[in-house]
Formats: sequence, structure tokens, C-alpha cells
Amino acid sequence: MRFSAPLLGGLVVVVIALSMANKGSADEPDTQAAGPQSSETDAETPMGRTGGSVAALGIRGDGVTLTFDDGPHPTHTPQVLDLLAERRTRAIFCLVGGQVRQHPELVQRIVADGHVLCNHTESHDPNLAARPPDEISQEIATTSEAISEAAPGAEARYFRQPARHVTPEVAPIAEEHGLAILDWTVDSQDWKKPGAAAITDVIAEALHPGAVILLHDGGGDRSQTVDALPDILDAIQNAGYRVAITPPLP
Ligand SMILES: [Zn+2]
Repeated sequence: MRFSAPLLGGLVVVVIALSMANKGSADEPDTQAAGPQSSETDAETPMGRTGGSVAALGIRGDGVTLTFDDGPHPTHTPQVLDLLAERRTRAIFCLVGGQVRQHPELVQRIVADGHVLCNHTESHDPNLAARPPDEISQEIATTSEAISEAAPGAEARYFRQPARHVTPEVAPIAEEHGLAILDWTVDSQDWKKPGAAAITDVIAEALHPGAVILLHDGGGDRSQTVDALPDILDAIQNAGYRVAITPPLP
């Protein structure tokens, strides 16, 4: 199913209308795509987002946002940070509370390097929406607490639900915690480990104004993502987009 969404400058961006279903393992955390109201996966589909939701993010112009999920990871997060620093590029890091507690020094570095934090829950439960509201709230609260303890003064600004776009069960609870919802419009599918070139190609072909690009620095071996990152940044630049425009906060 496809939707067309008019964006600025008369551009029409066709995005694939998918809700993200979730059967993710720890190694494939965010990308089990399925059609709306469907539990069937369609992992071959390159990205998931409704057209209307692109506009709902409120991003304008030629900016695109890089997001890195499921860290901090002791190997790959420093590598990603090094590459982003070399290119003077900022990104949003969606942190898992359990990882934050294990690697507080990496949270400190993410913040020190000028990146923005996103709360990606304590345990990365792909079935978060099925849990009682108080448990959902606890998943969010403990992650925010872990971030504050790891890097005093730092706080997550955004919330991203594990393994899918935010659901109606979860969104109001995240907003109660003062977090802005952060979904994505371009799924790099880096979790499939298709090779660095393939990861870059998926992104390059899906770029659009206001793109929010899903990548992973944690949750498994992300060496392909690290290898791809310089080429991803080149592809974004060569296509005339600016990197690291973060979605506006409420
Ligand atoms: Zn995730």
C-alpha cells in the first residue's frame, strides 16, 4: 500500500504505509515491518511510515536526521561517534536503559559531542504496547533515570518505541513523560546485515526532505553500519540534503 504526501517545494514523496510489527530479536530490534493490522512481516519492504506522519514530524526544508538505536554499545557507539565527529555531524541516539547502566561513559560522550538523546525504553520489549500502562510508564521512567544518572544534566528529549512506530497505547504515556515521539521515515535495514554498500543504497534511494533515518549502533554486530556511515553521509550531502536537523520538539 502506498500513500502520497505533498511536501515543501512541490515535492511529492511516496512513502510506504506500514506499521511496524514486531517479532524482533535482540539482534534485529527495530525492523520487522508489517502492514497495518497485520502480523505478517514484509522485511523486503525498504521502509515504513505513513505519508501523513512525515508531515506530523514537522520537519521542513532539506534537512534529514540520522538516528542510531539500541546503544550505547561498547564497540560500535565509539566508532559511530568518531565518524560523526570527523564530519561535524549530529545525530539522535535512542538509548536502551539497560545499556545506559552498563556504559554510562558512552552516554557522557554522546552528550559531550553534542548529540541528542532519545528514550528507547529500559528493556526494549517489542511487545511494549501489550503491557499495562504502569509498566509502560516504568519502562520509560527508569530509562530516563538511567540517562540522568549516567550523564548528570542530560535528558532524553524524544521517545522511540522498540521495534515499531509508536502505538496509541504507548504514545500518550511517553508524552506524559515530556518526550516527543520519534518514529522514522527511512529504514536502512542495517539490522539485516546486507553489507555496507546495500545499507548505503537503501538510504540513498529513499532520501526525501525531512527524512528520519533509522540506523543501529547497538543490539548486535553493527560493523556494517559503521563501515557504511561515511558513504551514507556522502550520499546525503551529494543529494543536496543537510544532516542533523532534528525534529522539532513540542
Ligand atoms: Zn530498537
